[in-house]
Amino acid sequence: MKSLWNDQEAAGFPGDLGARIYTSRLLGRDKTLVLHGGGNTSVKIREKDLVGREETVLYVKGSGWDLEFIEAAGFSPVRMQRLVDLSRLAQLSDPQMVNEMRTHMLRAEAPTPSVEAILHAILPYKYVDHTHSDAVLAVCNTADGERRIREIYGDSVVVIPYVMPGFDLARLAAEIFPRESGPKTIGMVLMNHGIFSFGETARESYERMIELVDLAERALPPERSAASAAAPAQPACRELAALRRDVSAVAGRPMIVATHQDAASLAFAGRADVGSISTRGPATPDHVLRTKRVPMVGRDARGYAQQYAAYFNEHSATAREPKKMLDPAPRVIVDPALGVCTVGNNAKDAQIVFDIYANTMRTIQRSEQIGGWKALPPKDIFDVEYWDLEQAKLAKSGSPPVFAGEVALVTGAASGIGKACVQSFLARGAAVIGLDIDPAIATLHKRPDYIGVACDVTAGGEVMQAIEKGVRAFGGLDIVVLNAGIFPGGKRIEALDDSEWSRVMRVNLDANLALLREAHPLLKLAPRGGRVAVIGSKNVPAPGPGAAAYSASKAALAQLARVAALEWGSDGIRINMLNPNAVFDTGLWTDEVLTQRAKHYGLSVEEYRRNNVLKVEVTSRDVAELAAELCGPLFAKTTGAQIPVDGGNERVI
Ligand code: ZN
Repeated sequence: MKSLWNDQEAAGFPGDLGARIYTSRLLGRDKTLVLHGGGNTSVKIREKDLVGREETVLYVKGSGWDLEFIEAAGFSPVRMQRLVDLSRLAQLSDPQMVNEMRTHMLRAEAPTPSVEAILHAILPYKYVDHTHSDAVLAVCNTADGERRIREIYGDSVVVIPYVMPGFDLARLAAEIFPRESGPKTIGMVLMNHGIFSFGETARESYERMIELVDLAERALPPERSAASAAAPAQPACRELAALRRDVSAVAGRPMIVATHQDAASLAFAGRADVGSISTRGPATPDHVLRTKRVPMVGRDARGYAQQYAAYFNEHSATAREPKKMLDPAPRVIVDPALGVCTVGNNAKDAQIVFDIYANTMRTIQRSEQIGGWKALPPKDIFDVEYWDLEQAKLAKSGSPPVFAGEVALVTGAASGIGKACVQSFLARGAAVIGLDIDPAIATLHKRPDYIGVACDVTAGGEVMQAIEKGVRAFGGLDIVVLNAGIFPGGKRIEALDDSEWSRVMRVNLDANLALLREAHPLLKLAPRGGRVAVIGSKNVPAPGPGAAAYSASKAALAQLARVAALEWGSDGIRINMLNPNAVFDTGLWTDEVLTQRAKHYGLSVEEYRRNNVLKVEVTSRDVAELAAELCGPLFAKTTGAQIPVDGGNERVI
């Protein structure tokens, strides 16, 4: 492991706190050291306050910040003396500890200091760095881990046996560290938890971390890269959707299930001993909050939930305070045929779980090579999973967005109404699969809950592949928005040729039939019941001259949707249609076309835009928001409906 320190870069971070920010980010850049908010760092600075009183302030990472992206605002300034005094108490509950830290901060809006703040305070060094290094954990989590750690580090580190992070750990370290540290001490290993380094400068502390982790790396056998097995058989969408339904059923809400079939995941899931090595526990206790203690091996979600409840009942019986059971659904699924699936309340959570578990798989296998993976006993993991602070966070967290954990597919999603639908569904917490013939669809959004696939909706194979891609990423399909359509220029019937007629029917009607047919088995497996929103047209109830093909195609689509509502009601699938009119903020309507059409009717552009009963302009967003609401709880008891969104049209009313 190499130091990433760079003098030029470092010069951009002046002052003691600046240096702290810089090396914190260096630690954050290495995913084998810290992941997603893990680890913490601090610096002790002498400061004068407004009235001229001087004191030492501990700037420690605040909770909710990630080392990789931390800024000055991410460090909480806490009075050092108070923290040192607290470390001498016989006991301190977590809520008391948080209260003490928050009431002894020097910046009112600073984040809550890390639960390891007291531990940082008692270490007598200006800079303190703490990571959950994979290499150190791979050595710790073996049958004779402590002996190995002592052998590797000698007297360069103090070793602290495992205790619960927070006050108990700070207190134990306050007792052991002064006794066992010496002139050669540059770090501290917390067994089964992580490692600390310290120094008088930010660089010294950071480079000692690198040096210590490098020693652990060298003590481990080189990592075997997973043999790239033959391309795995692609699991059928239905299998994945059924798995997601079962997992969501035990979670009590829809969950995103992401399937990972990279070589490393497949190799791990395919190991003959996977049932044993994957169920001994996590690499470090705080991963439990993301990954749960053990993955589900195989696909029996109900069985997993029963075991989880048994684990909860066993350990909550002896807990200090009453505990409320979290949902018993797995967060990691290991299955020889599927590889590794990760589960989350949303796509971002499922991705974070995978980032953590990818490291865990490597760590487990390295420990296996040097004497056998041995994690902490379940009781210790339970204590972290259910500690007061986490339970309090849970109680405070508000209700999730309406489509949290759900997956929506939108066609014609690169522009106009489709693009607005993508926004409306993302804003309501759904993961979205956007389809469009325009390749720009792929990069419409860069976020974990969006996938854009360029495809021609009239090519069945392409649509099927796009659905498969979406289902592998998110686990299933809950909502479909049929939006893709074409509107050829005005042509009277006598001038309408067969090929144009068929082209309009192919895109506006046939493609939607094919998509509905493919989506049906997946919608049937949607945890809350499938929903379809069909973007129709005012032309369904009130056709216009010169638009025979378009009007006929949308009218046929309306009839198709109504039959689907009848046929699929018993599958819990709702299908509703909305009929927009005169939506001008789409690619179709350039300023030029708009001016022309307005002129044709003898109106100003402004009048033409609002040429309806309510004299309002109808935008893509209006249509998209209604499409989203149609799929939400407000319309839970409505199916087969056609709703205008046109500002009021005399011919429709
Ligand atoms: Zn830690």
